[in-house]
Amino acid sequence: MSIKCTTVKMTDNNGDLTFLNQAPSQWREAPDTPIAYASKEETIFLSGGLTLLQDQLIEAALNSLGIRFIALPNPDFASFRTGKAFGNRGQCNPTYFTVGNLVKYLQHLRDDKGLTTEEIVSKYVYITAGGCGPCRFGMYITEYKKALRDAGFEGFRLTAFDHEKGIFQGEEIEEQLLDYTPTFFITLVKAVIIGDIINLLGYKMRPYEVEAGSTDAALTKCRDIVSKAFLNHTSLIKALWQCRRELSQVTLDRLQPKPKVMVMGEFWAAMTEGDGNYNLYRFLEAEGAECIPQPIINRLMLSLWEAEQAHLKTAALAVENGKKVDFSHMKTRLLIMAGKTAVKTHFTLYAKAIGLYDYDVPDMEKLADLAKDYYTLECSGGEGHLEVAHLIEAVKHNLAHLVISVKPFGCMPSSAVSDGVQSLVTARYPQANFLSIETSGEGAANFYSRVQMALFKAKQSAKEEWEKMEKPAYIPQKVHNYLYQPKNRQIGTAARLIESLK
Ligand code: SF4
Repeated sequence: MSIKCTTVKMTDNNGDLTFLNQAPSQWREAPDTPIAYASKEETIFLSGGLTLLQDQLIEAALNSLGIRFIALPNPDFASFRTGKAFGNRGQCNPTYFTVGNLVKYLQHLRDDKGLTTEEIVSKYVYITAGGCGPCRFGMYITEYKKALRDAGFEGFRLTAFDHEKGIFQGEEIEEQLLDYTPTFFITLVKAVIIGDIINLLGYKMRPYEVEAGSTDAALTKCRDIVSKAFLNHTSLIKALWQCRRELSQVTLDRLQPKPKVMVMGEFWAAMTEGDGNYNLYRFLEAEGAECIPQPIINRLMLSLWEAEQAHLKTAALAVENGKKVDFSHMKTRLLIMAGKTAVKTHFTLYAKAIGLYDYDVPDMEKLADLAKDYYTLECSGGEGHLEVAHLIEAVKHNLAHLVISVKPFGCMPSSAVSDGVQSLVTARYPQANFLSIETSGEGAANFYSRVQMALFKAKQSAKEEWEKMEKPAYIPQKVHNYLYQPKNRQIGTAARLIESLK
């Protein structure tokens, strides 16, 4: 452990109080001695923490741009424990999982791959997201640096996308290591969008597969086809069209009344597919549910919406104060509008190519309108008003039999929404089956038990909905084809398919 800033740290020996009454020392981020970093060409970038598929597609997409990039393995409980061992006390658990995952990977490079600490520090750079806001998100960079230093990797470089300030390369990074060109961002966003689309299809198909594991096998083939298209700079639309063949080979039995469960909540806890939320999606599927995840583009659209609102407000204030129109604001607004259009267009094109027809990019204005009576739209921490809007939308538009909001233990914005505001929403919409649940990284049994209880009610609703349906004498085979995705007032997939035959 570094000798700096350790004097007031509690020891790991329970009952040892020698840390008390010691003089505190000043925390400094920059290393004392200058480090000779590897050249830009030799630098290897690390990142991860989205869904498994998206991390792999991003690796292929960035490699196609000539960037030496490695996606980290999925964060697991060992990552969490490592994060706790080297991090500050009282952090939210995405911090522990993600920080610990990086430290764990660097330890693996050192202990299993035989790289020296100096080599690792000089050659590798971690890309993360940073930002401000009323939560620990603003502290992520410092938290990484503290944990890395205490784990013996002092001076390890970090570079961050800051959703408010643009790109932060880190004080110790003198040279621009990554060229954040429009091509870089467009390629990255394409990988995220395609990942979202394939994930959404996977969640629709897996619960109804006749042969266990066949959907995952098809999704792996789709991943390889798309990765190859990125690496060879060939058409992504054509690649997605080829994926249809793989998905069509999965035999489905879609006339099974299964409850639909919308999973939302804090971005990372709701999105991760592993120990970070106790493998919630796989658990729900094993219990007989169909999951509706929140794609990452929803968060992207929220960021664009927030940026647009901030610019509208600044422009309105300028007019109020009698200032002239500031054309730089107009340019930013135009860029935001172009960003929104590009995301929607790419999503629609790619979704149609692979055969996802019943999912639309969320209308942020509509969601804001649903939430505005319950949640101050200007509060932009965490997922802002989205959690409230999703619950109301799910009830009003018959989207799910159960809505689960996953929030990490210690998450400030999500706790305020789920425990506070959502109680008013559920009081006004008593038909909502809503479960707000914490993931602490250490309480799986309690977590599963609460999910099972809420799921029982959802299963009953799905069964009742199915039993009320009048079944036609002849049911065409097309209902089992993943490409057949009718939309109507029924919630469950099976009930929706039968309704569509009327
Ligand atoms: S939103 Fe919650 S979990 Fe996410 S960084 Fe902020 S405090 Fe942590």
